[in-house]
Amino acid sequence: MAENFDLGIIGAGPAGYTAALHAASTGLKVILFEKDKIGGVCLNRGCIPTKTILHSAELYEEMKCAQELGIYAEKLDFDFSKIIEHKDKTVEKLRKGIELALKNAKVTLINAAAKLIDKNTILADDVTYKCSKIIVATGSEPKSLKGMEFDHNYILNSDDILNLTGLPESILIIGSGAIGTEWARILAAFDVEVTVIEAAEHLLPLADTDISKRLERIFKSKKIKFYTSTTVEKIDNTKIHLSNGETVSAEKILVAVGRKPCLDEKIEGVSYIGDVCGEIQLAHYAIKQAISEVSGIPFDKSLVPSVVYGCPEIAWVGLREQDLEAGSYQKATLLISSLGKSHCDNCSDGLIKILTQNNKIIGAHIVSKEASALIQQITLAIQNEISINKLKEICFAHPTYSEGIFECLFKI
Ligand SMILES: Cc1cc2nc3c(=O)[nH]c(=O)nc-3n(C[C@H](O)[C@H](O)[C@H](O)COP(=O)(O)OP(=O)(O)OC[C@H]3O[C@@H](n4cnc5c(N)ncnc54)[C@H](O)[C@@H]3O)c2cc1C
Repeated sequence: MAENFDLGIIGAGPAGYTAALHAASTGLKVILFEKDKIGGVCLNRGCIPTKTILHSAELYEEMKCAQELGIYAEKLDFDFSKIIEHKDKTVEKLRKGIELALKNAKVTLINAAAKLIDKNTILADDVTYKCSKIIVATGSEPKSLKGMEFDHNYILNSDDILNLTGLPESILIIGSGAIGTEWARILAAFDVEVTVIEAAEHLLPLADTDISKRLERIFKSKKIKFYTSTTVEKIDNTKIHLSNGETVSAEKILVAVGRKPCLDEKIEGVSYIGDVCGEIQLAHYAIKQAISEVSGIPFDKSLVPSVVYGCPEIAWVGLREQDLEAGSYQKATLLISSLGKSHCDNCSDGLIKILTQNNKIIGAHIVSKEASALIQQITLAIQNEISINKLKEICFAHPTYSEGIFECLFKI
């Protein structure tokens, strides 16, 4: 006899577990199916593990220059296995937190692959579950390139690279989106020889072109080799043939060319949220979709901030300059080196670019330490249509990076 639930959710990534927690808090009887580990890609193979390893990489990189700041550490070195151990502990701690929250919310959790039968029926481990409403949040998986399928040893995806037990001497990264860029920065910090191949004209093709160009400067300064407007034609043993006629080689190849939804077919009457939709594949977008689906709280899909982590961070929200008609907007740019705090922190590389129309911000593009926090201030301003004059009335603390936003406003 089938058990009945108000809401059935397939997939316990950020989309699925957020939907489950919010629905349960309103008193609904919720069942959540997960075939792997709670937390999905974000917690187990995405946002959290990469940012944890990145933090170790940044610390190591900073320590290399610590003497300039009067700090001496003898025999500076790193132990990659300990870095991975720390990453695993961080992930486990956070996973336990979500598991506890689901338990406290009385969400029924089934650790099994679930199959959607119809808009009210889910099958898992030969048991049928009836649900008044069903949400599919099955996420996404790495895309491969034709003729360069993952062998999980030489040609890696973003899951494989997290399973490395040691670092390669060299790596070729195909794709310079957020994942490719973050791994390039992590590995270069650990002295791996990194080469990035990007098919588009500039690195980080989804960013504003000024930001991409800035990243190119940063890559050069960190000795990360890159080719733009270039593709990998074929891999012949260990020879990697590029579209520009050059041949390169590397101990490992990371393919980071995007992700594809984990979806069989859509069933009418069922809701699909998160990466499975193939829209904006970001954890905070998945979370907002979940809350919107369950609690009806709307959000503006054109105002989803993007962040690329590393030192300095890169973040943007709203419109890009290359998408605007000449003469239809104003812009102001401020170099981070003009801010006192950036010199206190020995991190003065970067810029803030603000685009405006009719006395309101329509887009912002930032390369700076703390850019992930700065972009949220701009998102608030755009979403609430706060005029430039009103923003100028706000008191920004000193010395901070936020002051850069304030100073930029006076340049418009
Ligand atoms: C390397 C990397 C770094 C990233 N960094 C960031 C970042 O810094 N910031 C950011 O916002 N985003 C980042 N992302 C993207 C982010 O991880 C995803 O956008 C997010 O995880 C999507 O959440 P989701 O719930 O839609 O899907 P997922 O997290 O993919 O979760 C889907 C879940 O469904 C389960 N599932 C699938 N099919 C079934 C089934 N039939 N039965 C039961 N369970 C099933 C899966 O096992 C999985 O646990 C990163 C991604 C990667 C790969």
